[in-house]
Amino acid sequence: MTDAAGGDCAAILANISAFLDGELDATSCTAIEAHCANCPRCAPIVDGLRQTIGLCRDAAATPLPESVRARARSAVRRLLDEWPPD
Ligand SMILES: [Zn+2]
Repeated sequence: MTDAAGGDCAAILANISAFLDGELDATSCTAIEAHCANCPRCAPIVDGLRQTIGLCRDAAATPLPESVRARARSAVRRLLDEWPPD
């Protein structure tokens, strides 16, 4: 599945999962942001994570509590397991 942003939803969710494992770099963050600008399915997911865990914002500066990370990680993995929703 591809879209106008040139990204693929499952790949974006995988990037988010990588972020939660502390493996996401700035390039991947840019890809996530660009994808969500054009994807109504991923945008609310990423927006929620951004508010909860500072996705792509304070990642380097603020280590997340493991409890928060674990909860977000399981949510993303569940989404990946169920993707695509259609
Ligand atoms: Zn998407």
